Amino acid sequence: MDIKKRVKNLLSQIPEGVILVAATKTRTPEEVLEAIEGGIEIVGENYVQEAEGKFKVIGKRVKWHMIGHLQRNKVKKAIEIFDMVETVDNFSLAKEIDKYAERKRIIYPILIEINSGREEQKSGVYPENIFSLIEEISKLKNIKVEGLMTMGPFVKNPEDIRPYFRLTREIFEELKGKDYPNVEMKYLSMGMSDTWKIAIEEGANIIRVGTLIFGPRK
Ligand SMILES: *Cc1c(COP(=O)(O)O)cnc(C)c1O
Repeated sequence: MDIKKRVKNLLSQIPEGVILVAATKTRTPEEVLEAIEGGIEIVGENYVQEAEGKFKVIGKRVKWHMIGHLQRNKVKKAIEIFDMVETVDNFSLAKEIDKYAERKRIIYPILIEINSGREEQKSGVYPENIFSLIEEISKLKNIKVEGLMTMGPFVKNPEDIRPYFRLTREIFEELKGKDYPNVEMKYLSMGMSDTWKIAIEEGANIIRVGTLIFGPRK
């Protein structure tokens, strides 16, 4: 099966209301264009520089999501390319995004990345710190917090990721009940090639899929 067919096949299995983001790290612009022909409307990239090259070829026919760790010194360029940053996990990064959003006179949408497995080597805010982080970010006028994103730990058996997705969903629901300004919990981004079904069962409405669309990375 080719890329276009795999996208169509996947889209046909995804319930209405769930958004498929194609995770395109290491893929060529040509491969990404094939996925777009299959119906992909949002591309997720992990690195600003890599995204920049593909953005030059593909442009604004799709939306772009930053799904990798974003460094503060790349924010200016990032918000030129990306329509959303899914991976904000600290206040100083949010503040930098707010600064450039103000210059552009836009309200910039972000998700907060949760380190649901509390893994030291991974990015994302620890679950116990998310409320204070969001409270702080909610004071920034040029940012809108639109939901949560999580990776979860690497697991051999996909079913083992379920508790981490469930925890993230519970925090998502709890945040919905709070009345922070500039915060509207709309999107829950979780699930990848081997875990997207479980993620949807646990409430995800954005899934980020690479391998299942493009094949194994080299
Ligand atoms: C690579 C990546 C994905 C997709 O992973 P696959 O296993 O290839 O589907 C999803 N989210 C993030 C943040 C990624 O870096």
